[in-house]
Amino acid sequence: MKNVKVRFAPSPTGFLHIGGLRTALFNWLWARKHNGKFILRIEDTDQARYVEGAVDNIKEALAWYGLDFDEEPIFQSKQLSKYEFFLQQLIEAGKAYYCFCSQERLDELRKLQTINKQASKYDGKCRSLTEEEIKKKLSDNEPHVIRLKVPQTGVTEFDDIIYGHISVDNKNIDDQILLKSDGYPTYHLANVIDDYEQKISHVIRAEEWLPSTPKHILLYEAFNWSKPVFAHLPIVLGPDKSKLSKRHGAVAALKYKELGYLPEVILNFIALLGWNPKTEKEIFTREELINEFDLNKVNKSSAVFNITKLDWLNAQYIRNNIENLDQVIKEKYKKITGHDWPQSEKQFNKVLAISAQRMTRLDDFVQESAIFTAGELEYESKILIPKQETRESTIKSLELSKVTIKNIEEKNFTETALKDKFKQIIASNSLNNKVVLWPLRVAITGLEKSPGVFEVMEVLGKDKVIKRVEKAITSLQTG
Ligand code: GLU
Repeated sequence: MKNVKVRFAPSPTGFLHIGGLRTALFNWLWARKHNGKFILRIEDTDQARYVEGAVDNIKEALAWYGLDFDEEPIFQSKQLSKYEFFLQQLIEAGKAYYCFCSQERLDELRKLQTINKQASKYDGKCRSLTEEEIKKKLSDNEPHVIRLKVPQTGVTEFDDIIYGHISVDNKNIDDQILLKSDGYPTYHLANVIDDYEQKISHVIRAEEWLPSTPKHILLYEAFNWSKPVFAHLPIVLGPDKSKLSKRHGAVAALKYKELGYLPEVILNFIALLGWNPKTEKEIFTREELINEFDLNKVNKSSAVFNITKLDWLNAQYIRNNIENLDQVIKEKYKKITGHDWPQSEKQFNKVLAISAQRMTRLDDFVQESAIFTAGELEYESKILIPKQETRESTIKSLELSKVTIKNIEEKNFTETALKDKFKQIIASNSLNNKVVLWPLRVAITGLEKSPGVFEVMEVLGKDKVIKRVEKAITSLQTG
């Protein structure tokens, strides 16, 4: 496909939401897939809803996720004269008109329509004002808006890549406001003018804008402009099918950075919110997403945001070291603990290899690695004792382990050698795994649930292991 140009057009009314990030991602993927352009447009014509800092948050989030844009972003509020220019053309062509109706009258109208069970819609009163009347009201500085003169018959139709053919009776379309009484254009007007002016080929946006699209189509027709292709993305809901909210997981796109997720994982995860690659594959690198993403494979049914799936995905990335995590994890470690990784690089890699099997988030490394970095382990001595065993039998078992460990040469202190040796000792003393290995594991990790005892022993090294076993014996004797 040639000349693909798409835009992400947020209104700066708050932080970038995970749903907004999905919209940005789908646009970005579409652009990158077709060697097209992805641009950022700040739609800030609603002054009342403007939130300080929102633009920075949006830019920071896009940067963290690596969704780079190709042109300097434009701000709609900085180009008001452009909208006025185009609007003037519509007025002159008789396709838009001044409306001087007061808020009171409009409220009254709405009330009446509600009572009569009619859709609320402007009744067109000001359509019939004469030139003279308009001139007079304007020179009296009467507050006014400008509305589109929507044809009163016929239908407005368009094809949406995702939602298919849409057709609406014009009599159900409101004479939408194009210019507000504060002199700012509405979203509809500014959005259509910029999409046209910026030569946007595909409008990819959230489903909530689908009902506005017939209004946009009417505007393109009023201007006699060619239209872009539309693709509305299905709504994102929580697993309970309610609106996505904090109950379902963080909703701010940047929050995931703080929470210790990888940007690649979030992109992978949200790419699947609505897009169905129609294969079993669930892990996609950025490049694979670009190559395989297809708007034609986006479903129109709502997408479910399932944080359990996200955690699963993040764990897969960590386990398989998909993004060469070492550096990122070290930085996280420093940020959380306030100091650098305290041991050698070699040791870090060994600890990471074990910890990664049990981590969901990057932050988990701090806790998982603690058994390797701690001096003295803190735990209650009674957890050393296996079920149905006694303090005495546990002391005996740990003494046996201590001797066994002492007899293994430093250079043979490996997971496999340890495993073999203990297997032999357990058999020759007619003991069982539980009696020997449970107390040993707790002595070495301080935890009831931990990684395998032999792999931890290898990484800890002989001296530390002996010290921990001795401490466990003393705590049982004195506890
Ligand atoms: N400014 C609108 C928003 O905040 C953009 C909708 C569109 O992409 O047309 O979502």
